[in-house]
Amino acid sequence: MNDFRRQWSEIGGQALAAMGAVGRSGRLILGPEVKAFERDLARFWRLPRAVGCGSGLDALVIALKALGVKRGDRVLTTPLTAFATTLAILNCGATPVFSDVDGSGLIDLESAERALRRARRRIRFFVPVHLYGHAIDVWRLRAFARRFELTTVEDCAQAIGATSAGRPVGSASEIAAVSFYPTKNLGCLGDGGAVLTRSARLAERAASLRDYGQTAKYVHRFVGMNSRLDELHAAVLRRALLPRLGAFIERRRRVARRYRAEIRNPRLAVPPVPEGSRSVWHLFPVLVRGSRGSFQRHLASRGVASAVHYPVLAPDQGAMRAVHAETLGPLDRARFFARREVSLPIHPYLTDREVERVISACNSWT
Ligand SMILES: *Cc1c(COP(=O)(O)O)cnc(C)c1O
Repeated sequence: MNDFRRQWSEIGGQALAAMGAVGRSGRLILGPEVKAFERDLARFWRLPRAVGCGSGLDALVIALKALGVKRGDRVLTTPLTAFATTLAILNCGATPVFSDVDGSGLIDLESAERALRRARRRIRFFVPVHLYGHAIDVWRLRAFARRFELTTVEDCAQAIGATSAGRPVGSASEIAAVSFYPTKNLGCLGDGGAVLTRSARLAERAASLRDYGQTAKYVHRFVGMNSRLDELHAAVLRRALLPRLGAFIERRRRVARRYRAEIRNPRLAVPPVPEGSRSVWHLFPVLVRGSRGSFQRHLASRGVASAVHYPVLAPDQGAMRAVHAETLGPLDRARFFARREVSLPIHPYLTDREVERVISACNSWT
């Protein structure tokens, strides 16, 4: 599904040089590399401010806390996502409220709207997820949040670089969270994440929250955490990875175009990309008619890896038995995805030959 050794053979020289520069500088925590990376990331994203932190999960927690989410607050979100989205809400002491997805697998704003009109209890926050690298329609997202007075954190962990109607994901709301987990489109050599925002106040608060809630040395204004992006990761991200992000995304798009044009098995359907979305194809999902196990075994027998995103909905995870959560409606479409989805290999280091092998394995499954 990924090939980090091929990536290293391309970036290793620059990554080692970046690490050497950090070692020689003697600055290891919150130094010039983090600052420079934050500046370049914000520029790439066309948002004014970025704050680096320890992971995508932490970025979501920091974003929610910067917005003032507190114990007992309700947070509308999607059941079909990495469990980290739900964990971030729970880690703030808040209550996730799950609403169903649409035909693309992303939160369905229409059914959420119907449910919110009926809801008796106040929901104040919203964490939509730009799943699979697709962008949720930016205008609808904005109108929806306004109508229900929702303060929004966009989970952009899978969608860095994706746009909707030409606007980058994360720009429709108060704050965006992103992950640099190695498999993500901008993956570092370990764990990392960031929040992005237009607001100077939110950026300052996030910078404080990631660093023990300090506003100055030994002045702790907030109940913060230790979630700092390392100088080492920032240096490698800025010097070796971010300059390649555009090319990584282009390559993913080329692979996706071929899959969409050449996979012709009537038992495999590619869910539609949301209206206006220019996807970055973090994943390439197909919906399987028939036995998912048989399809995945067939792929494996042809030397093709596959995965499922996600086999169990967040509200159905064992961890949820210990906490309070709410569900709007039966989540039928999310369950359909959980039963039928298979992700095909897609990453910047796939060769044309490998892409052809995936296509022919898909087309030969009966
Ligand atoms: C990966 C991911 C996260 C969590 O990021 P980490 O860096 O692994 O903590 C959160 N949300 C989504 C949608 C993700 O894909």
